[in-house]
Amino acid sequence: MLYSKVAGQEEIKASLIKAITNKQISHCYIFEGPKGMGKYDLALIFAQSLFCENFTINPCNECSSCIKINSDNHPDLHIINNDEVTIKREEIDDLIESVYKKPYESTKKVYIIKAAHEMTTQAANTFLKTLEEPPGDSVIILLTTNSNFLLPTIVSRCQTIKFRNVSKETIKEYLKENYNTNEEKSGLAAEYSKGILNKAVNIINENDGTLKQREEVIKLFDKIINSDSEIIYELESFFDENKDNIDAIIEIMMMWIRDCLFMKNKMDDLVINKDFKQLAVTHSQCIKEDSNIIELMQNTSDNIKSNVNYKLAIDNMLLKIQEVFK
Ligand SMILES: [Zn+2]
Repeated sequence: MLYSKVAGQEEIKASLIKAITNKQISHCYIFEGPKGMGKYDLALIFAQSLFCENFTINPCNECSSCIKINSDNHPDLHIINNDEVTIKREEIDDLIESVYKKPYESTKKVYIIKAAHEMTTQAANTFLKTLEEPPGDSVIILLTTNSNFLLPTIVSRCQTIKFRNVSKETIKEYLKENYNTNEEKSGLAAEYSKGILNKAVNIINENDGTLKQREEVIKLFDKIINSDSEIIYELESFFDENKDNIDAIIEIMMMWIRDCLFMKNKMDDLVINKDFKQLAVTHSQCIKEDSNIIELMQNTSDNIKSNVNYKLAIDNMLLKIQEVFK
């Protein structure tokens, strides 16, 4: 594996590589950030770099350590909580026992603890003891979506590395380079992934329903603006069933309205849903430009989160959409 397997996070990569080169490796790291940012992949590449016999700025992928890592078969690499469920005290006891043993082959042992915030209180307290007297040949990497869920005493003894959302441009380039995705689809995936790398990859592999949902919502939007107000009653059950999804639905609608405004203003390049361009042209011909519809939809989304009357908020939004696209 190479550091380029994870898109973006350039500062993090540079600091990890520098730590190895300068032999200033911490005994415990926290990799913190939303799910799907490549925390686990980067932890693996870092582990491989620590084991690699010819490390420069990337692991060599040729030495026996690298080959073992790449075939999930290195005896000094330990993955804890692979299923990302609760971490019980017994698992931490096993970890501690292993931490104080010598490495099998390498000069180091690496422990990657997935969803580290899932440690029970007992497990966390036991784990803390390893951090008080850390053995010099162990590197522990805790992965978490939020370090506030870890004991402050654990956090204070580790080096926290925060993963940030990746720019759309970086994701787009990454998809083109690594997955041979065309311009249009990488643009769509970059846009709908909101800076979460794995989500973008799932979108282009059609492993998640994002694009299908987008298509449904755009068609629904078309139906709404081409019907009279009766449609609002017809759609009641649809919006009821999709209450948990409403954020995403409103967001797709907002992106769509933006596309229509871009079309209207001859800014075709900025259109996101390029595969529905023809429909966007049609819709753009009837949109009232000076409406504050996007703002209203954002408010609808916010209001629903703060528990206003759901049905009333949706009805209001649909009526407004009909009024603006007349
Ligand atoms: Zn190597």
